[in-house]
Amino acid sequence: MFKYMKMLFLAAACTVLTLGAVSTVYAQRVKMNLVYDGVSHKYDEEEIKIKVNGKEITGMDVPAVSINGRTMVPARAIFEEIGAEVAWNGGTQEVYIIHDSDVVTLQIDSNIGTVNGYAFVMDTPAKIVNDRTLIPVRAAAEALKYNVGWDDATRTVTLDKNVPKPPVVEEKPENDGYGNEVDDKINTDIEAEDELIGVKSVSVPASATSDQIFTIKANEEIEDFETFILNDTRLVVDIYNAKNNVSNSNITKTNSSVVTAVRSGQFQKDPVYITRVVFDLKVGVESEVRLSKDKKSLEVEFETNSVHSVDVLKQGKSEIIEIYGDTAPMVEAELAGWPLRLIMDIPGAVSELDKNLGVSTKFISSMTAEQYDNKTVRITAELNENIEYEIYYKDDYAVVEIKEATIDNISFDEDDDIVVLEGAGSIDADAIVDFDDFNNGTYIFYLPDDYSDIYGKGTIFVDSKYIEKIEVGVKNGKTYIELTEKRSISVKIKEKKGKLQLQISAPEISGEKIVVIDAGHGLHDNGASANGLIEKEINLDIVQRLYEYLEDDENIKVYATRLDDSYPTNISRAQLANQAGADLFVSIHQNTGENLDAKGTEVLYATHEGETSGLTSKVAAQTLLKYVCDAADTENRGVKLRNDLIVLNQTKVPAVLIEVCFMTNEDDVEMIERSKNRDAIAEGIYNGIVDLLARYD
Ligand SMILES: [Zn+2]
Repeated sequence: MFKYMKMLFLAAACTVLTLGAVSTVYAQRVKMNLVYDGVSHKYDEEEIKIKVNGKEITGMDVPAVSINGRTMVPARAIFEEIGAEVAWNGGTQEVYIIHDSDVVTLQIDSNIGTVNGYAFVMDTPAKIVNDRTLIPVRAAAEALKYNVGWDDATRTVTLDKNVPKPPVVEEKPENDGYGNEVDDKINTDIEAEDELIGVKSVSVPASATSDQIFTIKANEEIEDFETFILNDTRLVVDIYNAKNNVSNSNITKTNSSVVTAVRSGQFQKDPVYITRVVFDLKVGVESEVRLSKDKKSLEVEFETNSVHSVDVLKQGKSEIIEIYGDTAPMVEAELAGWPLRLIMDIPGAVSELDKNLGVSTKFISSMTAEQYDNKTVRITAELNENIEYEIYYKDDYAVVEIKEATIDNISFDEDDDIVVLEGAGSIDADAIVDFDDFNNGTYIFYLPDDYSDIYGKGTIFVDSKYIEKIEVGVKNGKTYIELTEKRSISVKIKEKKGKLQLQISAPEISGEKIVVIDAGHGLHDNGASANGLIEKEINLDIVQRLYEYLEDDENIKVYATRLDDSYPTNISRAQLANQAGADLFVSIHQNTGENLDAKGTEVLYATHEGETSGLTSKVAAQTLLKYVCDAADTENRGVKLRNDLIVLNQTKVPAVLIEVCFMTNEDDVEMIERSKNRDAIAEGIYNGIVDLLARYD
């Protein structure tokens, strides 16, 4: 079951009764042409004033205007007044408003915004008007828990803090617009108050020099929590279904070298209780949050390191870069071109190094150090020639050993996008194992043995629209060839006269369709649990089987959001589908209901703009529903419109979420427990996907 998403139902603009004395208002008129949605609109209305906490905002570079009955304002002028930070991402066309620990995201022309990852709906979206970004002031301010008012007499919008919040109406559609009733099960995640756990206390480290572990204690087992970093300077821990009873809710004496304060509070009560604990951090801190053995507490561990010196020595044919920290720094290195350089990143560290490290050797022409971001030290070596490198660790320093690259017998045909391996007569092409890790931007091929005597080790940079570089090395006794992807690619392995060829192309050019599949939940997020079944495990089992069916199909390129017990965020699951340019996104979940008789399969989809004909989300939902019901012999519960789920509303490609069965129903449980049935479901979904892709080719 999907975690219940908070929906803010935006009240219609209030009509304020103007009773009593009539005041004389000298209102100015705003007359201008507003260009938006590709059309110029004549605008001639009385000016709209904005008051924030009683103070009128003047000097806005563009005036507030009314579009479709909603007041639209330039974000910065208004929200910086309340102490918020406003940021703009031109790539994704998103406006971010960051206030205390809240993050509101509005996308141009999208009716769905998010607050701390929870979706809300607005009737008028943010728009580009006369080349400026205007946002709906009410939707954004209410998302930040401001009270928004409208005085019709003076045409003034008021934003006030610390005023009791108007009641939030939860949107609960009665049916999905296709005659299917939407049942109550979306509310079953809301725990009755007596089922809530209590968060009791936060303990601090013994001293600034001891292990930097903070412990958040609860009275019962913590079932669900989420953590994220805000502005690089705050770690937020959200504990679900939890009442805040923390005795020390504002800790300023932290006994810590890295955390300056810890605050706890009841972040939310409706629809789900969330206790939020916020850690204010110094620079250069990495953190890990884990459940204790008895699951009654969360341990929050912080690590920091300072990098204070770098030495470069000659050793035989190698050069040795020694990087010293308080403890041995972890190094993540990467070769980059051009100019050819070795980038060495040290996460969770503060730089005490000079900017210019004054190094000049056979391999290195210069070396610099910088605090790359709040938590990463970056050391960059400009190189005189192509090298290979190896990283290892000593007591209190890290070693990056560099030597001349030995990569050989591998070339790249830039005209035809082929990686050519010479002298491959003894290599069985069928024994090559490949894995496209598009989530991490790499496509790796493992040869059946160690062939470093033929191919050596090293990196070559290529000029291609598909890949950036080719790296050759040895892992676990096998030579690997790793391509760094610039986009989604297909690779076909061919044998030709003692050569191996890796033919690269775009999936759409080689005739392949791209399918992204998603196993719901994962890691700390179990999803629903009932009758001894854990939802995340069933979802994963079906997805692993489905992945194999899809991978074996020559006409399909498949990516999975996860193939193990990990937790990609819901946004990143949708983004994978968007970035891959998927033809179809399929998310797998299981249902639960308070009514134990409720059983069967339903498929959810959302309204996607521009999906009017061909393969739409709704058509995909209808087709896959039929295939799953046939394969699993489950009751057909219909397709349901659900615009509140991030994996459905943030995907820009046809997307469905299959609720395969009810883990709370005896018949469904008996069915899903058998691996034979889970395999039949995976095969059914596969057949449904093939059917869809063929019909809408
Ligand atoms: Zn679920």
